[in-house]
Amino acid sequence: MKDIPGLFGSMVFNDKVMKERLPKDTYRSLRRTMATGKHLNLDVANVVASAMKNWAIEKGATHFTHWFQPMTGITAEKHDSFISPSGDGTIIMEFSGKELVRGEPDASSFPSGGLRTTFEARGYTAWDPTSFAFVKDGTLYIPTAFCSYSGEALDKKTPLLRSMQAIDQQALRILKLFGNQDVKKVITTVGPEQEYFLIDKELFKKRSDLIYCGRTLFGAKPPKGQDLEDHYFGAIKPRVAAFMKDLEEELWKLGVPAKTKHNEVAPAQHELAPIFETTNIATDHNQLTMDLMKKVANKHGLTCLLHEKPFAFVNGSGKHNNWSISTDTGLNLLEPGDTPSQNAQFILFLVAVVKAVDDYQDLLRLSVASAGNDHRLGANEAPPAIVSVFLGEELTEILEAIENETDYRDRQKKQMEIGVSALPHFPKDNTDRNRTSPFAFTGNKFEFRMLGSSFSIAGPNIVLNTIVAETLSAFADILEKSTDLKADLSALVVKAIRDHKRIIFNGNNYSAQWAIEAEQRGLLNLKTTPEALPYFVNEKNVNLFLKHCVFSESEIHSRFEILLENYCKTITIESLTMLEMVKGHVIPAVLAYQNDLANTALTKKSLQAGLGLKLETKILARLSLLSDSLANVLEKLETSISQMKNCSGTLDSANFCKDSILPDMKATREVVDELESLVGKKYWTLPTYSDLLYSV
Ligand code: ADP
Ligand code: MG
Repeated sequence: MKDIPGLFGSMVFNDKVMKERLPKDTYRSLRRTMATGKHLNLDVANVVASAMKNWAIEKGATHFTHWFQPMTGITAEKHDSFISPSGDGTIIMEFSGKELVRGEPDASSFPSGGLRTTFEARGYTAWDPTSFAFVKDGTLYIPTAFCSYSGEALDKKTPLLRSMQAIDQQALRILKLFGNQDVKKVITTVGPEQEYFLIDKELFKKRSDLIYCGRTLFGAKPPKGQDLEDHYFGAIKPRVAAFMKDLEEELWKLGVPAKTKHNEVAPAQHELAPIFETTNIATDHNQLTMDLMKKVANKHGLTCLLHEKPFAFVNGSGKHNNWSISTDTGLNLLEPGDTPSQNAQFILFLVAVVKAVDDYQDLLRLSVASAGNDHRLGANEAPPAIVSVFLGEELTEILEAIENETDYRDRQKKQMEIGVSALPHFPKDNTDRNRTSPFAFTGNKFEFRMLGSSFSIAGPNIVLNTIVAETLSAFADILEKSTDLKADLSALVVKAIRDHKRIIFNGNNYSAQWAIEAEQRGLLNLKTTPEALPYFVNEKNVNLFLKHCVFSESEIHSRFEILLENYCKTITIESLTMLEMVKGHVIPAVLAYQNDLANTALTKKSLQAGLGLKLETKILARLSLLSDSLANVLEKLETSISQMKNCSGTLDSANFCKDSILPDMKATREVVDELESLVGKKYWTLPTYSDLLYSV
C-alpha cells in the first residue's frame, strides 16, 4: 500500500515545506504577502528563491518556469535551467529572487486582442505567491500572472485575483453590519467537476478531425449510443481504472485534492471531481488536472478528449463549477445554518446571488460561450442558454413568505421576520436533484452547470465574483446609512426578491415550455456565441468591471476581440478539416465502392442474363444520388469558406461562421453520414463511432 498522506503534496513547495526551510522572519514576511497581497522585498525574495531552488533540486528539478495562463485558455511555460557559469569553466546551480518574482517571456505570439503591438512585444510574468510552486517533470513551476509592458492583464489569473479582491471588500462591509468584527478576509471557493472522454490512441491518430478539432466532424449513429443508460456509474473497465489510479497519484503529488471518479452518461465518458479550494488555487489545479489527464492518458495508450462535444448522438462534456463564499474564520456564508442570527445574514447573501444572476444573466451566459459549448447548451443534455436559478421548493417558499410577509407554511406562529424567527433546518439533499438547472443551489453552495469541459474556470468565476461583489456593494451602500438596520434590511430583502424572482425556476429547464415562459419573464436566451459575446462590451457591463477594478476598458475590448477571433478560427479550422477529410477519405471510399459494385454488376450481366442485380442496382442508385448531393454541399461549403474574407470585422466574421459555414458543414455531414452507413466497412478508412466509443 502506498503512503497516500505522504504522497499528497510531496512535489509542492507548500506551507509545511516553507516553515521547515525558511528562516522564521522570511517565512513571516512571505505569509504576510500571501495574506495581504503586499509587495515582497527583494532580500526576502532572494532567501525564498534559494530555499525553493535547493528543495526543487532535491526533487529532481534542473529547470524553472514561470507558469502562466494566457488568453488561449490553457497554460504556457518556458523553461530556463538553473545553471550559471562560475568563470572557471564549471557551473553552479543558481536561482535569484529577481528570477522568482519577475519574468520576461517574449509575449508577441500570445493573443492580446490588440493590447500589445508586436513592436512592444514584451510581457511580464509576476509571481503569484498565493498559489504554491511545484515540481513537475524535472522543472520548478512558479505560478504567475502575465501582463503587458503598460500593465494591462494579458491572462486569466490577474482579473481573477482582482475579482476575488472585489468580493472580499464588499462582503466584509456586509459582515461588519452583522457584527462580524473578527473576519479579516472573505474568499470564494470552487470545486470544479471535470468530464472527459477516453478513446484508444491508435484510433485517434486515424482521424484528423479529432487531431485538429478535438471533435468528430462526421460519424454515422452507432447501433448503440447511451440508450440503455448502462454506462453512468457503471463498473470501471481495467484500462480506464489503471489510467484513473495513475492520474490520481500524479495529481495528489501536486497537491490537487482529486476525490471522486466515475463513469458518465455517454460510452467512454468519465468524470473527476476534486475537493473544493480557494478559487485561485482551484483554477490552477483544474488547469493541471486537464493537462495531466492528457499526459497520463497518452502513457496508457489512450487519448483524453476534453472537447465539449466530441461525438454527436451522445452527451458532450461539461464542467460543473460549485461555488461558495467563505470567511477566514471558516464560515460558509451560503450555509443556511440553524441559528436565528445567521439566518438574516444567509438570506442576504442568498438574495445577493439571486439578484446578481438576474442583473447579469448576459455576463454569466457569455462567460461560458465558445464554439464548442454551443453544441451543448440547449441540446437537452446540458442546461439551455437561458440563465436561471434553482433554489428548491423549501427555499423558494421561504423567499415567498418573506416577500409576502406571511407565515412560512403556517408552521410557525410568528410572522416571517428575517433574523428573528429561525429558518427551518434544510435537509440538504432536498435541494440537490434538479439536474437541468444552469445555476442550482445545492445545500450550501451554488452549482454553475453551463461551463464547457475544456474551459478555464477563471472566466466564469471572474464574472461570478464580480457580479456578487456588485450586489453586495449596492446592499452595503444602503445598509451602512441605515438608522434602523432591521427594518431596512427587511425592506431591502423584500424588494430584491420582488424585483428578481423572475430568475428563479425550479422546473424542467430542458422543456420547450420553459423557453416560452422564460421569454415571457423577460429572460435572455442567447443561443450562440456570436449572439452572447457583444453583451461583454455594453455600457452596464463595462461600468461594472471598471467600478470593481477587474478589467480596464481596453482589457474588455481586447478580450471581446480575442473571444470572437477564437470562435472564427475554430470554425474555420473545422471547415477546412472537413474538406480535407471528404476529399482524402470519403470520396475515394465512395468511388471505390461504387466501382466494385458496378464491376460486379457488369460481370454478372455478362455471365448470364437474368441473374439478379437488384442489390447492386439499388445501392448504386442511392450512392449516385448521394454523390451528387455531396458534390453540391461541398461546392457550397467551399464557396462559403472563400467568402469569409469579404466580412468586415470579427463580429461580422463570427456571424458569417454561424449563419453560413456551420449550416454548410451540417449539410455536408448529413450526406457523409448517410454515405458511411451505405459504404462497405473495408472501403471506409476512418474509424467509426462504434470503433471510437467502444474501443477501450
Ligand atoms: P454532486 O451531487 O454534484 O456530485 P458533491 O456534493 O459531490 O455534488 O460536490 C460536488 C463538488 O462541490 C465537489 O467538488 C465539492 O468539493 C464541491 N463543494 C462542496 N462544498 C463546496 C463549497 N463550500 N464551495 C465550493 N465547492 C464546494
Ligand atoms: Mg454536479
